[in-house]
Amino acid sequence: MKIGVLALQGAVTEHIQMLCALGAEAIPVRLPSQLDSLDGLVIPGGESTTISKLLHEHNLIEPLHLLAAKGFPLFGTCAGMILLANKASDLQWQPIGAIDIEVQRNAFGRQVDSFEADLEIPALGDKPFRGIFIRAPVIGRVNPGVDILCRLNCNIVAARQGKTIACAFHPELTDDSRFHKYFLDLVTGEAIAQGSSR
Ligand code: GLN
Repeated sequence: MKIGVLALQGAVTEHIQMLCALGAEAIPVRLPSQLDSLDGLVIPGGESTTISKLLHEHNLIEPLHLLAAKGFPLFGTCAGMILLANKASDLQWQPIGAIDIEVQRNAFGRQVDSFEADLEIPALGDKPFRGIFIRAPVIGRVNPGVDILCRLNCNIVAARQGKTIACAFHPELTDDSRFHKYFLDLVTGEAIAQGSSR
């Protein structure tokens, strides 16, 4: 299984290491032509305004729109979630629209308001998942067809639509690979077959 990690800006290496540790082939992606050979793509955290500007400069927006329309497996973390959303507050560029959610950027405050929290994510099993939130967004609205994977207090912080998942936190910065494993299972179709998405 070959998974790309969009490598224009942000936490790229950590995703690649985690995917490789799970047995996938993981490669950094900067060119549209690299998308053709992939089974799935991760869009990492970073700064969504910068990444979206670079997506345009690298001519990646149109190919990503096409992949999203085909239901191609996509996994966005933090800024990556903002970029995969249908709508994002305070973002100059239109996001990709791979998952029918509306996202508010920087919903928990500024860099100093970054925090960690134990999260209940039923799709990953009973053990809490350590969420690392760095100037994190929240999902303000999920539209029909989207499953909520995780809430923190009243805030929706992870969701799935088909084979696309988005989370407001940084699973790649923990040593818990269950979220990445869940994505790989979506890529192969196993997670959906097991009904573990709810
Ligand atoms: N606040 C950033 C943004 O709006 C996201 C931060 C992150 O990815 N850790 O793009």
